[in-house]
Amino acid sequence: MENNQCKKTTYSSKEFADLDISRFANSSRDKKPTYSYRCKKCLGWHITSRDNYQTKLRKVEKELFEVKLLLESKDKELLKRIHEVKNLKTEIELLKKKR
Ligand SMILES: [Zn+2]
Repeated sequence: MENNQCKKTTYSSKEFADLDISRFANSSRDKKPTYSYRCKKCLGWHITSRDNYQTKLRKVEKELFEVKLLLESKDKELLKRIHEVKNLKTEIELLKKKR
């Protein structure tokens, strides 16, 4: 997929990314890439060193937690609505009986 957002090398599959990691393993670079991950922006695969990976992992975990909180608040809202509808139903039943 074409994408200008990612300046990193993009691989079309995990296999290709991992292949490059094994190539870097024999190089003399300081920060050797050790992890491959799926990129949310370009949907391709990138490789990164362990430190970068941990940072990304924490970021994703934080996002996941925020989504969880959002869903829980929506759940509460929904339960409140259901409760309101139930109350209305009861009221209607009472009104019917009074007639
Ligand atoms: Zn990307």
